[in-house]
Amino acid sequence: MNHDEALERLLIGNRRYAAMRQMYPRQTTYHRQTLIDGQHPFAAILSCSDSRVPSELIFDQGLGDLFIVRTAGHAVNDLVIASLEYAVYALKVPLIIVMGHAQCGAVTSVMRAEADHLPGHLPHLAALLRPAMSAVDPASEDAIDQAIQANSRTTVGYLASSSLILNAALQTDSLRIAAAHYDLATGRVDLLNI
Ligand SMILES: [Zn+2]
Repeated sequence: MNHDEALERLLIGNRRYAAMRQMYPRQTTYHRQTLIDGQHPFAAILSCSDSRVPSELIFDQGLGDLFIVRTAGHAVNDLVIASLEYAVYALKVPLIIVMGHAQCGAVTSVMRAEADHLPGHLPHLAALLRPAMSAVDPASEDAIDQAIQANSRTTVGYLASSSLILNAALQTDSLRIAAAHYDLATGRVDLLNI
């Protein structure tokens, strides 16, 4: 499967989900057992840990279909990059989707400068996320939505420039990295222009 076919399969699955016409594919005991000896996922998804954003459900996919990395605000560090490199280098995944979502609490807390005053490791998370949204004017009416989308777009560029493995796959067109946005209200995933 190439990246165009992978993207089409994801978006078709999402339209089923948004219309509440899911097929719940490849979720039987039989499918589980066919995957014991290996996996061949057709896409990787980097998305938020938010409980409302489960990729297998949103894209109506099943066991063995998606390689998923989730962190709050889909923040990226070396471990995230390594996980995605594994998907591309070892599993030959042709598509990475970086998917932000409406009402993202992680992005909102950074935009409101609340995250710096939180305990534990949370300020570190804010520091990872902040550069992606530095160009957004916090005073603008839709600042949070702008920041959520800026975060996804910036992450795509960051992945491409931070990883030799991902960059090499992009150069040969064996990989596409796309930014997307999930709308909690409609259930739709739409691609973002980069
Ligand atoms: Zn979120």
